[in-house]
Amino acid sequence: MLLLGGTAEARALAEVLVDRGVEVTSSLAGRVARPRLPVGPVRIGGFGGIDGLRVALVDFDLVIDATHPFAQGMSANAVAACEATGTPLLRFERAGWEPRATWHYVEDHDDAARLAATLGQHPLLTVGRQELARFVPDLAGSDVLARVVDTPDLTLPGSWTLLSSRGPYELEGERSLMRSHGTDVLVTKDSGGTFTWPKMEAAEELGVSIVVVRRPDGPEGVPSVDSLDRAVAWLEERR
Ligand code: NAP
Repeated sequence: MLLLGGTAEARALAEVLVDRGVEVTSSLAGRVARPRLPVGPVRIGGFGGIDGLRVALVDFDLVIDATHPFAQGMSANAVAACEATGTPLLRFERAGWEPRATWHYVEDHDDAARLAATLGQHPLLTVGRQELARFVPDLAGSDVLARVVDTPDLTLPGSWTLLSSRGPYELEGERSLMRSHGTDVLVTKDSGGTFTWPKMEAAEELGVSIVVVRRPDGPEGVPSVDSLDRAVAWLEERR
């Protein structure tokens, strides 16, 4: 089985599958310098688009796409390559967070930047390195704290501070981070899950405005599950 990963869910699934004796290879994009590695065999780096993935699928009977909900390119390639090769494909995606009435949902990162600029002067951006450039035009003069795993390849405005760190995070730490920065608006993707949930709690407690970038639609025509048990059941039906 090929497990397209780069998420905590994918690592958890790899562990369960290895335990069950499934021959699973996890695939990572190779974006972060020191990735958390799942148990079992791992390959790192892009496949070279749909054609490259089609060729790689010669070695696999099944594919589970457990990439991040915002990793649309990889998911689309998986749909096309699996369709072309007749390889069964499952989408495994953690559920998004339960929306709260106080949160501001937006369609994309550009809208998030525009809205954040109207909501505060001290935004905390937790949207990932790849999206930061989209916030520069609207927040160039703001006291931005941008939290990322790896340093972005981008010259940041002088009023911005970069914080390199990696979750999971604790509530107390998130509280003191927001207090010391004076955060008045938090921007996040609707990542779901528990790894980064404490920032939402801390923001609520401190009265920080919360901007949530809505998830893009998942891959079309692909069965999708949001729990480990269901992913394992899908696999067992095909073994
Ligand atoms: P993306 O835009 O969907 O993918 C761009 C390209 O990166 C793909 O076409 C593929 O290259 C390669 N790629 C992506 N995921 C891969 C994987 N698991 N194994 C091998 N190649 C992969 O992806 P992204 O948004 O840049 O995310 C990259 C990785 O980070 C994903 O694996 C994702 O699960 C993880 N991640 C993303 C986010 C996020 O917010 N986007 C957050 C946390 C983790 P080729 O076309 O050459 O095959």
